[in-house]
Amino acid sequence: MILNHSAHDYTILVEKWQTLAKRNSLSFKKVTIYNQFPVYELCNDCEGKAGSGLYLSAGIHGDEVAPCWSMLHWAEKNADLFKHIPIVIYPCLNPWGFINNCRADMNGEDLNRLWGNPMHPLLGKIILRLKNLTFRLSLNLHEDFDANGIYLYEPCQNAESGFWAEEILMTAQSLLPIDSRLTIDGRETINGIIRPDRNNPPLDGIPEAIYLIENHGRRNFTIETPSEASLCTRISAHEVMIEKAVNLALQY
Ligand SMILES: [Zn+2]
Repeated sequence: MILNHSAHDYTILVEKWQTLAKRNSLSFKKVTIYNQFPVYELCNDCEGKAGSGLYLSAGIHGDEVAPCWSMLHWAEKNADLFKHIPIVIYPCLNPWGFINNCRADMNGEDLNRLWGNPMHPLLGKIILRLKNLTFRLSLNLHEDFDANGIYLYEPCQNAESGFWAEEILMTAQSLLPIDSRLTIDGRETINGIIRPDRNNPPLDGIPEAIYLIENHGRRNFTIETPSEASLCTRISAHEVMIEKAVNLALQY
């Protein structure tokens, strides 16, 4: 259980991931120092065939803290999975923002619009590290101050994941309602699901999700919880949605 006053405590978050990594013989290493703070990656040494792994990230927007804790809780409960499924996790991609409760990085830039820049001092290192990897599923975990419930983006729908989006949202519906808006960020939204037109990407830069589906596997969800709901509820909602998405992915 994370208390409200600890929600932005990066030291505690990192210590918990370090403990998890040590206990399960996983690699937890520094990607780089970015905006004065270390950014970490958790991974295992499972080889796996191409496309069999999982990619999860949170905290790219520093004021969206619940998913950072959800991912940790999910990983603590499912560490056995990491013994046989290749996995790459970025527990918090914007530690400066996490600590300062700020969406952007220290330079005022939105890190979720800079994935087209392989020279970026943080994202460039991740882009290089992910080279040649493909994933059966990638998840990007976010929150939204304007949201009145949970919703998600499914940027690339394929036949076999036809109802995954609906199932992922349904699993958290007992915790939080599905966002009722008909458009979100100018995009048509049906029952909390946005399926963006691939020919109409954000004009202000490449988000992580688009970078991932174009380079590392086509099954991706960006999951959102409403920032104004209680922290514990948001953490629980993300956790059950991560679990559902991963369980669906492992069936294929
Ligand atoms: Zn976000």
